[in-house]
Amino acid sequence: MSKFIVGLTGGIGSGKTTVTNIFAELGIDIIDADVAARIVVAPGSPALSAISEHFGADYLDAQGQLNRAKLRSRVFSAADDKAWLNALLHPLIRQELLAQLAKASSVYSVLVAPLLLENKLHKLVDRVLVINIDQESQIVRTLARDPSSSAEIKRIIASQMPSEQRLSFADDVINNQGVSMAKLRQQVIDLDQKYRVMANNPV
Ligand code: ADP
Repeated sequence: MSKFIVGLTGGIGSGKTTVTNIFAELGIDIIDADVAARIVVAPGSPALSAISEHFGADYLDAQGQLNRAKLRSRVFSAADDKAWLNALLHPLIRQELLAQLAKASSVYSVLVAPLLLENKLHKLVDRVLVINIDQESQIVRTLARDPSSSAEIKRIIASQMPSEQRLSFADDVINNQGVSMAKLRQQVIDLDQKYRVMANNPV
């Protein structure tokens, strides 16, 4: 089991997936909060039954899968519904992440979560790594990746922690602002070297 855990976060379009893929290529086990969030509501799960009892069976599709877009739009404008859903899911996601972290076998592991700080998942990690990028680049890169609108991306950015506040939690920062893929990769390689030393020399 890897005992040393790096928590990786950053706003939408900051480069979390790209950076995570580089850590994975370097042999590091990745534990992804978005993946855990899907596992806990998989067809047949207790949480999915609770959701369909609470919100209605029409939140499941014909295959018994959660209609995430429909649920997202329901809780977006209803604070009570959002609070109910978070109270159900957050402990389950945390449990799933802990189970996956316990199984990680690389020298250290990376826990990636868009809302690492907002959801206090940084309490599970030894070090917080933030990817930094300005809002303009977040919008340009997300638009190039997703069929979305800049208004929708701005709404997501507004729902996440402001960048200066996120940076105040950072032990390490990756700059992905106006940086080539090669320069981004080099920053990850340098951090990987540093984390290997830290993981092997616990304080
Ligand atoms: P996140 O997972 O944080 O939302 P991604 O890793 O998906 O962000 O990056 C957003 C988009 O920007 C992707 O299409 C990715 O390929 C691209 N991208 C990330 N870093 C760079 C970079 N340094 N130069 C050019 N494109 C980049």
